[in-house]
Amino acid sequence: MTPILQISDLSLSLPVKKGMVPILHDVSLSVAPGEILGLVGESGSGKSMTAFAVTRLLPGGGREKLGGSIRFCGEELTGKSEKDMQAIRGRDISMIFQEPMTCLNPVFTIGRQMTDVLMTHQKISRAEAMKKAADMLASVHIRNAEDVLRCYPYELSGGMRQRVMIGIALSCRPKLLIADEPTTALDVTVQAKILYLIREACRKLGTAVIFISHDLGVISQICDTVAVMYSGHIVEAGKAADVFETPEHPYTRALMAAVPKFTASAAAGDRLFAIPGIVPDPSTPMAGCRFAPRCPYATELCHTSPPTDIVTGEGHIVYCHNWKRSMNRKEAGE
Ligand code: SF4
Repeated sequence: MTPILQISDLSLSLPVKKGMVPILHDVSLSVAPGEILGLVGESGSGKSMTAFAVTRLLPGGGREKLGGSIRFCGEELTGKSEKDMQAIRGRDISMIFQEPMTCLNPVFTIGRQMTDVLMTHQKISRAEAMKKAADMLASVHIRNAEDVLRCYPYELSGGMRQRVMIGIALSCRPKLLIADEPTTALDVTVQAKILYLIREACRKLGTAVIFISHDLGVISQICDTVAVMYSGHIVEAGKAADVFETPEHPYTRALMAAVPKFTASAAAGDRLFAIPGIVPDPSTPMAGCRFAPRCPYATELCHTSPPTDIVTGEGHIVYCHNWKRSMNRKEAGE
């Protein structure tokens, strides 16, 4: 299927006091209609910055430097003016954030906020917009939609507010939805319902979704494809089933090993695995692989030469000099 969004060799640098800091390096990914792409990695890996680059909601005050290409519905976004991007955001590309309270305006009712979005992008009357808003709330399984439209955000629970955010994000039937850690602030039962809603809406409307999370469990439940990011680079990408069944990059395997396991074999006193070290400061130049200081499989080559993409299976790509050797050592139980 032709992708809705095709990002090729995307690079991003942001201004700081002493100059420009490179944040993203050669990021390439694509997402098709009705598909959910998971972007996963630790904090500081570049997941959210990739999303902000697509929507051009970047914290550089207009001084940021974007390179490469972001093609959306066949159109190049990197050269678009802010006015053009304002017309695209909210209508063709929507976002859901982690904490809806920071996105919903506390002084306006839900109805006012939903109808403003619809009236701006669809040029319809307030009465028509109110009807559409009620339908949209019903479609995200809010039963008393008319009552909720009269509420202020503080009158709703966290789960309800996130449903409202999904309703607002989908109200103009966007072609692309970017969900940035949308379930992190919710308890697990509400989380499961929100994941179901996003998946259902994506299938029904044919909306492509980029789902950002550091939680591999959540990504494995909802995504069709996955891209693992580290220090501004994609290090592994492929179909979710392939990446989770056969993770090939040492970082992906380390992330999976760090997920707490509640199995019968877990014993009291077992220590939870943690990846040693921290994600490098983006301003620190490194000649080779940026994961090398934390990687148990690093060789001299890793410290001097950046790994390039290796296709290891249908659509499965890994950026690692030693992926085969590290897989063999893992299978041998080292
Ligand atoms: Fe580790 Fe080297 Fe692979 Fe980087 S390229 S992940 S340092 S083995």
